[in-house]
Amino acid sequence: MSSTKPTMEDIVSLSKRRGFVFQSSEIYGGLSGFYDYGPLGIELSNNLKQLWWDAMVHAKDNVFGVDGAIIQNPMLWQASGHVAGFADPMVEDTVTHKRYRADQLAGVDSTDLTELAKLLEHKKSPDGNPLGKPRSFNMMMQTWVGPIEDDAAKVYLRPETAGSIFTNYLNVKDTMRAKLPFGIAQVGKAFRNEISPRDFIFRVRELEQMEMQYFINPKDQEKVYEEWRQFAWNFLISTLGIKESNLSWHEHGDTERAHYAKAAHDIYFNFPQGPKELWGTHNRSDFDLTNHAKASGKDLTYTDDKSGEQFTPYVIESSVGLGRMLLAVMTDAFDRDEVGGEQRIVMRFNPKLAPVKAAVSPLLKNKPELVDLARKVYAQLKSEFGSVLWDDNGNIGKRYRRQDEIGTPYCITIDFESLDNNTVTLRDRDTAKQTRLSIDELSQNLREGLRGN
Ligand code: ATP
Repeated sequence: MSSTKPTMEDIVSLSKRRGFVFQSSEIYGGLSGFYDYGPLGIELSNNLKQLWWDAMVHAKDNVFGVDGAIIQNPMLWQASGHVAGFADPMVEDTVTHKRYRADQLAGVDSTDLTELAKLLEHKKSPDGNPLGKPRSFNMMMQTWVGPIEDDAAKVYLRPETAGSIFTNYLNVKDTMRAKLPFGIAQVGKAFRNEISPRDFIFRVRELEQMEMQYFINPKDQEKVYEEWRQFAWNFLISTLGIKESNLSWHEHGDTERAHYAKAAHDIYFNFPQGPKELWGTHNRSDFDLTNHAKASGKDLTYTDDKSGEQFTPYVIESSVGLGRMLLAVMTDAFDRDEVGGEQRIVMRFNPKLAPVKAAVSPLLKNKPELVDLARKVYAQLKSEFGSVLWDDNGNIGKRYRRQDEIGTPYCITIDFESLDNNTVTLRDRDTAKQTRLSIDELSQNLREGLRGN
């Protein structure tokens, strides 16, 4: 099957035209770095979340889910190092005062301000003006709780979901009677005041993360780290069906790693703007539990039942952005081809991911007997598969094109022959082939096809 690499414009325009992603508060001109998911986007995003949760939590017997609050006691972010160090290097155009990511203008993956200052010494801003000195910019968003806006009431919107996983380490261990190794997984919103949000939903200020922190005996760190790297790679290829040729590994260098990380490998996806980070696996060492123990005064060490050995667990983290995953899946699925001499855009989503599973049409919308039977088939499929569309607009060819463009795996048409022998045509998105089958066999056929293996 062919595949056409789309431009970002292709994806943005399809997203808007067909209801995947909209600018947030669009009628007011939008807000940079914030997006809303439309009727199809939310289906796709829910499918991604559910597959991740199934693989990460339900398929394992030692990974437990939590859903922490977005706002936590600010001591958490002091202890985690985010208040002091969750920063990106920023540089300002001295004339327009527009701010840019210094590392991106310099074209390096580095947060080292001295190195960046050297590299940017003779560079101009994108508007052709001189640049100021690179400095650190903290990306945590702040607000206040309660009626008084003073320092005592200042809190942060979490910059990553991991924080409440560490603060719930003891709660989960005790309530689930968990023994090492075990993991805690969470899906939820995080906020980053990115200096220059860009590339559609790739870099936003309100994002959703899917994270899992795995607590281990430090002696197992290398082996477990490799296992979670492999998990991410396999999930993208085997569960989501992403083409391996769109993926690559990137190991963080010394000046690129986050303040807590001992080792970090990202999976890069070949996004429309080029290969960029999609999914990170990090060895966070005992950084988190050691610092939270110090700051909270709680004992977060672990004692091994059998050996009696006592230690602070190491953490291997698997962290991926849901919006980036959605952008990757849309990019990977995008294709253009020709069917019956007509050009079409077809989203070749894995059927498990497809936001709409099937569309049902009466051949003609002004023939009540066709519409009645089609409505029955529609109701039957909707009750079983949920996300099924009714489409009686325009001619059949147009309906198929519309469904191809949103990646609907199957279109079912009820025609005059259906009235005689209780059969329908089932049209396959990828091959555009139509087969005739009995209404009684329809559910079973769809069930098999939608498994998507
Ligand atoms: P980047 O280098 O792209 O800024 P990061 O290394 O800071 O990302 P992490 O802190 O490891 O990212 O976050 C884990 C995951 O969350 C990333 O792999 C990415 O998928 C997602 N993510 C991080 N920042 C953003 C953002 N601003 N917009 C969308 N997704 C993001």
